[in-house]
Amino acid sequence: MPDVAVVGSGPNGLAAAAVMARAGLSVEVYEAAAIMGGGTRTVELMQPGHIHDICSAVHPMALASPFFRAFELERRVELVVPELSFGSPLDGGRAALAYRSLDRSAAALGRDGDAYRKLMLPLVRRIDGVMDLTQNQLLRFPADPVAAVLFGLRTLEQGSPLWNVRFREDLVPSLITGVAAHAVSHLPSLAAAGAGLMLSALGHARGWPIPVGGSASIAAALAEDIKEHGGVIHTGTPVESLGELGRPRATLLDVAPRGLLGIAGTELPDGYRRSLEAFRYGNGSCKVDFILSAPVPWANRELAQAGTVHVCGTRAEVAKAENEVRAGRHPERPYVLVAQPSPFDGGRAPAGRQILWAYCHVPAGSTVDMGEAVTAQLERFAPGFRDVVVQARVTTAAELAEYNRNYVGGDFSAGIMDVPGLLRRPVVSPVPWRTPLRGVYICSSSTPPGPGVTGMPGYHAAKHALKDIFGLPVPGLGL
Ligand SMILES: Cc1cc2nc3c(=O)[nH]c(=O)nc-3n(C[C@H](O)[C@H](O)[C@H](O)COP(=O)(O)OP(=O)(O)OC[C@H]3O[C@@H](n4cnc5c(N)ncnc54)[C@H](O)[C@@H]3O)c2cc1C
Repeated sequence: MPDVAVVGSGPNGLAAAAVMARAGLSVEVYEAAAIMGGGTRTVELMQPGHIHDICSAVHPMALASPFFRAFELERRVELVVPELSFGSPLDGGRAALAYRSLDRSAAALGRDGDAYRKLMLPLVRRIDGVMDLTQNQLLRFPADPVAAVLFGLRTLEQGSPLWNVRFREDLVPSLITGVAAHAVSHLPSLAAAGAGLMLSALGHARGWPIPVGGSASIAAALAEDIKEHGGVIHTGTPVESLGELGRPRATLLDVAPRGLLGIAGTELPDGYRRSLEAFRYGNGSCKVDFILSAPVPWANRELAQAGTVHVCGTRAEVAKAENEVRAGRHPERPYVLVAQPSPFDGGRAPAGRQILWAYCHVPAGSTVDMGEAVTAQLERFAPGFRDVVVQARVTTAAELAEYNRNYVGGDFSAGIMDVPGLLRRPVVSPVPWRTPLRGVYICSSSTPPGPGVTGMPGYHAAKHALKDIFGLPVPGLGL
């Protein structure tokens, strides 16, 4: 019997396991799927030699999450940081572009360039304070109160109907909304504005890296560390009840509240169980992976240099698409998140080929194939796109939910992204990772700070388990 059982090998389960193993405890990880990694798996999806990320592809947090910085992920995984972090095409061959350099971006953003610089500069300068604020529980005193105030005021502005007050043209609003829409929330909203401003600031402060070899390289680095410290990872091993694990001293569950109910439901007190049953999930996503015979023929050639492209058009168009999803409809012109890994990592596709990663938001549980709608949006901003498509593969939201039990209804954020959803993750508590069962913790992105490949929910859960059960500090991570 190990000291610690970890159920689920997503980045948070692996981060939790690495922290526990480094503390000198015996750790076993149990993963339901045949391949470990959860949202960080990379496979040959359609043809040999074409390597696709099934879930996450671009990793702003790889260079910014306090856990990954302490873990020195940058030393273990080759992270390519595009000079052009992200961009949004507009009709007529125009595009709003966010380079690593804020000054260069401002210079390319027309009459609103200076307003964009003023919005972002304080956040870029105080990026550590912004990360402290956003990567911990919201209800705590921030390490950098000035950063918190600057970030809070900007979030209030960009999350309200006043969001256009600084701007005179459509470039900057489109750029900012393209990032805010990552949050799968209505627009404008505080949660989307906060996520958007944090990610945008990272685009200038540290960049949005693409791991060589795909997201699986991040899972592999964590797994290697776990093994080096004596831990064991079992794949193809679903866990359906706590009883199956024997009774290790600590159990960390990289599962959504629905998974926690399934594994521990009968043992949980009624009140806590009811809270988990009432947990709100968000909308889903429909993923579309492409093999291309050439790079995307963007009307605005500069976009070929971007790791990430937010394809939809103006701020009003992005808001319309996202608010339709919120209302339970499939937008005709969806907001499409596109990553272009192969120009930055030549090993992803054979010579003369490219891979392209894309998804759009859809109502929860959707079985609708959005492949044509996604292709049409790409064709709109990259005329000739259809001619370079060799093969495409669509994964609907319902299929995503089958692929990973944490993605209830296809919601890969594992919980709705609005202010109540951020505060109640999965319950309102000073230590939300701790369940009422002694020694049992939830460590998935259904806990603070929420979604993204950050390792932070896993780190927080492990920190509390070490202290509560073993009386140990967090080992050798300098956190
Ligand atoms: C299409 C898509 C695109 C994304 N893009 C990005 C991106 O570009 N950048 C980014 O940072 N994030 C992105 N994400 C989000 C990111 O992948 C998740 O936020 C992250 O993986 C969450 O990590 P986790 O460890 O909490 O859970 P997961 O990664 O979901 O892992 C949970 C693991 O637990 C296993 N499990 C669950 N229940 C059990 C059980 N009972 N027994 C055994 N095993 C179990 C599951 O099989 C799974 O492997 C994307 C996600 C998707 C789906």
